Amino acid sequence: MYDKNNIFAKILRKEIPCDKVYEDDKTLFFNDISPQAKIHILGIPKIEVIDFGDFIKSADAQMVNYFFFKAYEIVEQKKIEKTGFKILTNSGENGGQEVQHFHIHILGGEKLTHLR
Ligand code: 5GP
Repeated sequence: MYDKNNIFAKILRKEIPCDKVYEDDKTLFFNDISPQAKIHILGIPKIEVIDFGDFIKSADAQMVNYFFFKAYEIVEQKKIEKTGFKILTNSGENGGQEVQHFHIHILGGEKLTHLR
């Protein structure tokens, strides 16, 4: 069950601040507090979904498409589409997911060989 007190839910409710990169009525993108690369942005949809499977299965197709389209716009905004980047999502215990609100990591700005 979705925990409304997870840290990203609090960020969405503006109870705690974030270093915002982009926000609209459906999505929020913000800088990771503990960056693993020169560019490390987190992207979250503004719906209560726990992980990738939950997002894909319970959000409507338009929302899923919109979210990933926006993610690529952030890649373009940061001008890393040609130099290269990673988009990843951690899921569950083995995946190392810490925050229980579905999110993607957008990483770039340098060689990411340390993240293989
Ligand atoms: P996960 O392991 O769940 O995929 O990643 C969670 C990410 O959230 C981590 O990279 C961690 O640094 C980041 N994070 C955790 N708490 C906060 C916070 O309060 N603010 C921001 N901006 N990032 C956070």
